[in-house]
Amino acid sequence: MIKLYNSQTRRKEEFKPVEEGHVRMYVCGPTVYNYIHIGNARTFISFDTIRRYLMWRGLKVTFVQNVTDVDDKIIKKANEEGRSAAEVAKEYTEAFIADMHAAGVMDPDVRPKATEEIPAMIELVQRIIDEGHAYVEEGDVYFDVRSFPSYGKLSGRNIDEMESGHRDLVAGGAVDDRKRDPLDFALWKAAKPGEPSWDSPWGPGRPGWHIECSAMSKKYLGLPLDVHGGGSDLIFPHHENETAQSEAAYGTTFCNAWMHGGMLQVNSEKMSKSLGNFKLLREVLEYTKPQVLRMLMLQAHYRSPLDFSQERLDESATSLERIENCLRNVEWLAGNAAGDETSFDLAALEAAGEKLRADFVEAMDDDFNTAGALGALFTFVGELNAAIADAKLNAADAGRLRTVAGLVAELLGVLGIDLAAGKAESAYPVETVALAAEQAGYAGDDPEEAVQALLDTRAAARKERNFAVADAIRDGLKALGLVIEDTPQGARVNIAG
Ligand code: AMP
Ligand code: ZN
Repeated sequence: MIKLYNSQTRRKEEFKPVEEGHVRMYVCGPTVYNYIHIGNARTFISFDTIRRYLMWRGLKVTFVQNVTDVDDKIIKKANEEGRSAAEVAKEYTEAFIADMHAAGVMDPDVRPKATEEIPAMIELVQRIIDEGHAYVEEGDVYFDVRSFPSYGKLSGRNIDEMESGHRDLVAGGAVDDRKRDPLDFALWKAAKPGEPSWDSPWGPGRPGWHIECSAMSKKYLGLPLDVHGGGSDLIFPHHENETAQSEAAYGTTFCNAWMHGGMLQVNSEKMSKSLGNFKLLREVLEYTKPQVLRMLMLQAHYRSPLDFSQERLDESATSLERIENCLRNVEWLAGNAAGDETSFDLAALEAAGEKLRADFVEAMDDDFNTAGALGALFTFVGELNAAIADAKLNAADAGRLRTVAGLVAELLGVLGIDLAAGKAESAYPVETVALAAEQAGYAGDDPEEAVQALLDTRAAARKERNFAVADAIRDGLKALGLVIEDTPQGARVNIAG
């Protein structure tokens, strides 16, 4: 049974999609006026992981994510750069999609753009007006929060308290007097000169921010949604307003389970564009494997805040390397299996594998506890390492060992950490080719072959008791971050951990 924490009820609940076996899920997408930072990426990676897990548990998932491609910030940037808002939005939409691919985040099933969904938004705004929950003021349309008694239910705020807070904030006379109430928010904004606009029953204008998600989620998924997600900074006002609009228009529940991800922080402060403490996803991925970044993200629970630092990123790289080394050693042992002795308890290892699978499911079923799931994986990798250290493997057992070790890659893959990606590239650095040319007379350009040539030359040198050559090879590899390990079934090279 999958349980998830519902931000609206503030409880963990059994997850039950409306339609059995089919999850309809909406996650708010980016406003495309800049490259996304790794804080944004955390939220997208969290929901990608949740989606992948649900799919692995046998559920069909329909995943919708919007792109906000018309908005004040886009217009401001376009004006600063002397371009059209559409040009700015197009550039950063493409960049966003490329960044998501680079980070290993799956494409949504539908990725609607606000500018292509204006008719659905106009229809929704009209419906809210007809239901008596919005009013028109000089070409603007505002949602009337006082007409909607449950306003505040998602964020757990009381409308009168919000009101006084808001009054304090706008003390100084900045209150927009076209609004009947300071908490009312725009569903439709009358066109200003130089801004993109569309015709509507209230005159030319453009949609307010919140209305697009209400229109698109209903259009592509139907109500009530099973899951609506985003970062916790969206709970108020964005998600509160989405709920109010949709429920005011349709009179049905908008969403059954609200899920919100914790913020990525730097020195305990939210990573944000406005604070300037951000790192762009594309920059980090220039020097970090996407699997490492995801490992960092998933070592915290998705709802907890997570402090980003280079040290943490380095630790994640080390953790991933430990796993990759272990699997490389398994593959090596299986490939070099000989004789009729297996020197470790393979059945016990298989039992540990079964336990890993059960622990993984238990952790993930419990509100997607990726930290627990990774913990179970690390425990198992430790057991695997201990079993195969200095081990001998009977050729007949090679298949069984590969199968049990294969569980590691399978379960990491469920979390979106794809060990196979980038495998075609050798794990050894290209500098091994020059080293092998110098020490082993190697004439090719393949790091894997180069390392093998070095090992062959070293073995021959040791046989002749030519330790100078053997040491030169060991030291040359060491300078490249590689270590030679001598095992009962021969020598192999690993990345220094
Ligand atoms: P935005 O383009 O600002 O609407 O943000 C896109 C997504 O990134 C939203 O789901 C936000 O909640 C999320 N987000 C923004 N900053 C952070 C952060 N520091 N940590 C995690 N998620 C964030
Ligand atoms: Zn939204």
